[in-house]
Formats: sequence, structure tokens, C-alpha cells
Amino acid sequence: MKRRRPVVVKFGGATLSDPAAVVRWVSALRSRHPRVVVVLSAREGVTDLLKSIVAKPRQRGNHRRILASIGRLHPGLPRTGAGSLERLRRLVVQVEQAGRADAPLADRLVSQGERLAVHWMVPKLQRAGLPAVAVEADHLGVLTDNEYGASTILLRRSAGPVRRRLGDRLRAGQLPVVTGFIGRSLEGRVTTLGRGGSDYSATALGAMLGASRIELVKRGVSVLTGDPRRIPASQPIPRLSYEEAEELAQFGAKVLHPLTVEPARAAGVEIHVIPIGDPASRTVIGRRPAPVGTTALTLLPAVALLRLRVAGGRQRPGVVAEVSRRLAAEDVNIVTLFTSSTVLNVVLEERRSPAGRAALEPLVHEGQMVLDGPHRVGLLTAIGTGVLKDVARLPPELLASAEGLSATPRSVTLALPTAQAQRALLELHRVLVETERK
Ligand code: ASP
Ligand code: MG
Repeated sequence: MKRRRPVVVKFGGATLSDPAAVVRWVSALRSRHPRVVVVLSAREGVTDLLKSIVAKPRQRGNHRRILASIGRLHPGLPRTGAGSLERLRRLVVQVEQAGRADAPLADRLVSQGERLAVHWMVPKLQRAGLPAVAVEADHLGVLTDNEYGASTILLRRSAGPVRRRLGDRLRAGQLPVVTGFIGRSLEGRVTTLGRGGSDYSATALGAMLGASRIELVKRGVSVLTGDPRRIPASQPIPRLSYEEAEELAQFGAKVLHPLTVEPARAAGVEIHVIPIGDPASRTVIGRRPAPVGTTALTLLPAVALLRLRVAGGRQRPGVVAEVSRRLAAEDVNIVTLFTSSTVLNVVLEERRSPAGRAALEPLVHEGQMVLDGPHRVGLLTAIGTGVLKDVARLPPELLASAEGLSATPRSVTLALPTAQAQRALLELHRVLVETERK
């Protein structure tokens, strides 16, 4: 008989403030699917608190208050969970004594948030009659690179151990409850995957297990036509292709961690992004693109644009390579690039723009280029079929203020001065979503 493919379900930190709703969700899911793997994020706010300890390692009084409030968020921990809290206390003391935390120590400390969430939820699931067992992802064999704080899961190398260990538990009829957000580096230390990384944990596990579906259960959000904090009238999008969702996540849609889509796309597993209180308004991410006429908008509100004019007015072969090589040598990532035959606009993260400018300064001194900026811009991205035509409907004065534009058949990115970018976002949303759908 064909083995039943598991369902992976991840609960975001905010959903854990109603643990009974999470237990109900898992019970209902498991009554339909015998093989379920649960992935949990830390409780809302916990990762921020842990990060603040690392950022201000000397504020002992503050640390005591933080530890007390984290303790209060996880009442009734079983022995293993109390162990995590104890380990957290020891790590905090270690950081205080050293007066700093290097990246691996910081990750070890921050990873306790997810461990606490798992040990806190397992007894609640057990009391509902579910055979829940706590699984810490670093012991499961989730192997990552050594980029502490923002590591990437090595899917090929993790797949064997993960399949074996989770497979054993599923075959034994258990319900594994796995820590999201964490893994183990090639040198054997705890890593974290970057903010919002438990989505990525869930899709990575789903891909490795050949899941039939990955559910990302969140409080109040599916993938919307725009960030609801910026666009109050934003609406849920029922369906997106992997490529569309990836583009959205990379260009700042906070609802998904940027690496979330890739493992699911590679394995061909659908992702369902589901608001816990309103499952019907879910977004399904899979092979089929968004319905024609749907546009999703995202804004990266503040990035830095450096404008390079090629001296002599014509690009020489290799100019783009030269620029990116010099930036890469200083570890400066290019967010996006707009080029014409004479001008190269390089968009960088704002905090890296001084380093980026310094890296390119030699080209100016050698007389090859004229450099101006950094200019503070917002990157507005619109995704969907026919968006190129749609973007052209922006008021002319807004379009004229654009510093750059790049397009593929299904996505357009505009760089606009920050204030105009926010206006253009609301304007486009009004034209494309609010009026179109009436
Ligand atoms: N707890 C982590 C964070 O706050 C991971 C996650 O929420 O997915 O970033
Ligand atoms: Mg979270």
C-alpha cells in the first residue's frame, strides 16, 4: 500500500496566544490525516525580547524582567521545558559576563524561544488525546550553512536524517511537534534562519518529507493585495504561483520569509497560508498563477540607490561585473539593479550603503565613473498578469519621479523617492484592486 504523505502544519507566534484554537486545529487535521507534523514558532514577542538581551548584554536588571515575563508566557512547563528555561538563564548569565554575544552564542540564546513554545504546547496537545512528542530541529538533523542569524537549510544533506527520524515517529503513530526557526550549522552549532524563519522550516520539512500540503497558519493574515498596515483596504489573494509568491517575499511582503517558497516549489508541494480565524480566506501557493486581474503589491519602504554614470557616455564590456565584484568583496548585497547604456542604478540595503559607496569609490578615482547618492528610495513591486499596463495608469507626476523601473512579464518594480513610493502604493491599490473588483 502506498504510504500516506504527511501534512506539515506551522503555527505562527501570534496564534499561540490562543492555544486552545491551535489544539482544535491539530485535532481536526489529524482526524482526517493520520500523519501530521506540527512546526511552531516562538510565542509572539519572545524572539524580540531574546534579541534585545543580545543587543544590550550589560543590562542585567532588564534581563531579569525579560526572563520573568518569558517564564510567565509559558506556564506549566514539563521537566524538559523547565530545562530549556534553565538553559536560557545560564546563557543570559554567560552573555552578561562576557559583555557580548558572538553570533553562535546569540543564536543559541535566541533559539530557546522556539524550544519553550514546543515544550509548552506538547502537554496541551497530549491532554486532548494527541500523541504529541517534542522534537528540537537541531537534534533532528536540520543542517544549515554557517551564516548565524540568517542561515540557509542544506536540504539535500538534511533530507536523509530528517526523513528517517520523523518517519520513525510517524510510523509509530506519534505527532511530532518541531521547533521552527532553528537548525545546526556545518560546524555543529545552533543556527537560526532569520526573522519569520519558521515558515521556511515548515516548507523545508514538507519538501524533505514529500508532504501532500504545507499549512502556514497565522493570526489574521493570508497573502493580501498589499501590506494591511499600509493599505487598509487590502484584500486576500486566493491563489499565487510559486514564482509570484517568491517575488512577493523577496520584495518585502512581510507575510512570508523570503526563502519559504523555494523548497516547496522544488518539491512541488502546495503551501496554504491560512488565517486561523478565517480559514476560507486562505492563499494557496502552487503551480497555478493568480487569477487574471489580480495584482499584489509590496513596498520596500527605504532602500538606498547609488547612481553611477559611465564616464564617456558608453558602457564598456564588464562594467556591471566590475561593480558587482567590488560590492561583493565588501559583502554588500545588491537588492536590485536598473541599467541603461550610460547609467547604472544600484539599489542596496540602506544600512550597507556607506560600505557600498566606499567600495565603488575607486572607480570614481580612476575616472571611470561619476557616482551620486545614496538616494533614499522605496521599491514598489506589482505582481500579476498584465501589470505593465496597470503601472502605466499611475498619475504622470508620480511616474515621472521614478528613479528606475524594471519589469518581467509578470512583475514590475519601480524605484521612487520614499514619500512618493507610499503614495504610489496607495494609488495603485486604489486603481487596480479597489475599483477593479467592484
Ligand atoms: N520566532 C521567530 C521570529 O520571530 C521565527 C518566526 O516567527 O517564524 O522571527
Ligand atoms: Mg514570529
